[in-house]
Amino acid sequence: MAKKSDMQAELKCPWCEAIIAPIAGRYTGTYGTLMEKRCPRCHNLVATRLEGIPETIIKKQPEERID
Ligand SMILES: [Zn+2]
Repeated sequence: MAKKSDMQAELKCPWCEAIIAPIAGRYTGTYGTLMEKRCPRCHNLVATRLEGIPETIIKKQPEERID
């Protein structure tokens, strides 16, 4: 059974740390159709992937560990 994982889920923006519903965009480029999600608050890229490959979540580099 294929699970649809493309719904507009809310997530935490790694840049401005707000809980946001990302704005999905779609562009056709050299490598195919690029899907991207942007934060509606700070407009930074939250996730990007090429159509047909698994989504890559962009993560800010860890500054300090919280254990
Ligand atoms: Zn943001």
